[in-house]
Formats: sequence, C-alpha cells, structure tokens
Amino acid sequence: MAKNDKCTVSDSVLCNWLDKDCRDCYIHTMKSDEADEVYRNFEVTLSLLPAGFDEIQGEQCRFCKGAVKNPRDGYAIVDLGHGEPEYKKGMIMGYGKKVRQRVGSLMPVSISICSECRASFRLAEAFKWLSILMVAGIAIGLLCVPSIGTAVSDLSAALPFGIVLFGGAVGYFFGKVFSNLYVKAKSGKTAFNIFDIPLGAEMQRKGWFTMQDDGEVTRVLFSKKPYTRKLADIGYKPQ
Ligand SMILES: [Zn+2]
Repeated sequence: MAKNDKCTVSDSVLCNWLDKDCRDCYIHTMKSDEADEVYRNFEVTLSLLPAGFDEIQGEQCRFCKGAVKNPRDGYAIVDLGHGEPEYKKGMIMGYGKKVRQRVGSLMPVSISICSECRASFRLAEAFKWLSILMVAGIAIGLLCVPSIGTAVSDLSAALPFGIVLFGGAVGYFFGKVFSNLYVKAKSGKTAFNIFDIPLGAEMQRKGWFTMQDDGEVTRVLFSKKPYTRKLADIGYKPQ
C-alpha cells in the first residue's frame, strides 16, 4: 500500500530521502506538476553524486590519512553546491529577465570523522582566536601597569584603545600564521580540505563546490548524527 495515494511522489526515493510524516512534508502543499518538478530536480541531484557516496558516511573516519583509519566518532557536515539542475529566478509577473542561479543543488554532505581529526580541526580554528585574545590581553595587561598606562594616556586619551585594537590585529595575523603552521604539521595525519579526501575530490570533479570557500581548511559543522540519508537506504543505486 502506498504511504499516501494522494501524493505523486509517495514512496519514491525523494519520499524516502525526506523521511517525514506527510503532515510535516512540504510536498503535499504543492500542485502535482510542481511536486513532479521537485522530483525531477531531485533525480538530477542524485545523478550528480559519485557511486561511492555512502562510504563517505561509513564506519571509518574519512579525514584520517595513511593506511590506518580511526573509527567514526561523529560527522563533519559541509554544504556542497552544484550548478545543476538549472534554476532560474528573477522574473516578476512575466517582466524582467530570468537569471540562472549559481546553485541548482545543495547537499549537506555528512562525512565520518574520528575524535582525533575533529580535535585537529577545532585546534586549527582555535589558534586564530586564542592568538587575538592573547596579544590583545598582553596589550591590556601592559596598559594596566600604572607607569605605562599613564604615560600612554597622557599622549592621547584614545591611544590605549588604539593599542589594544592594534594588538588584536597583530594577534589575528599571528593566529593565521600559527594556524597554517599547525595545519601543515598535522596534514600528514589529517585531511583539512574535504577535496583532499578521495570521494570529495570525485565530487569536485563532478562539479560540486563548497558554499563558503575559505581556502586550505574547509569550514565544517560537527554533528553526532548525519544530516543526510544513505542512498542505499532510500533505494537509489548510483550509476
Ligand atoms: Zn580521523
């Protein structure tokens, strides 16, 4: 028996992927041709995924480099976008020009990560902030020494603030330097860029890109649960 015989996508891969009660699902508020379009678009999105997509959220850490991979302790989530399927926006009441949008597909890819690799990601990020706090803290500490503080504020009342801000900027610079050094030192053990992971590289070849591009270390979100389902679980066989 169909889950919902009033819904055109009932029991399809899309229905399984959304995995929702019909009352909470946005599809049932759509006209059937709109729902069909959503379904066709979803099929295009699925066809853009590499054959080994499920392995990325498997039992082993995908960020561990080398032969021995640690067991998964959670997931790193990264939003990947793709130009397909074509999606146009911008026409109002038939006027104006439809503009093709950069993103046709958006996939919150859930990648298995071990506790060690997660700690490395967090430390690479923490270096930047710790360094700002430290240098600004040292500047504040020096200004609190009465003889220094009075001498500086005698020159200009705004100067102490300027010095703290300058300290923050110096900290920011050194934070980036330390973070880069740390990433370099650790990069033999951990992949910091998701496109350094073989499956990530395959997705990049298929046209996927990160929504927030910020260089060497991919910005990820950590979660105990995956944000996506496995293709095998929704009854889809990648080509
Ligand atoms: Zn790992």
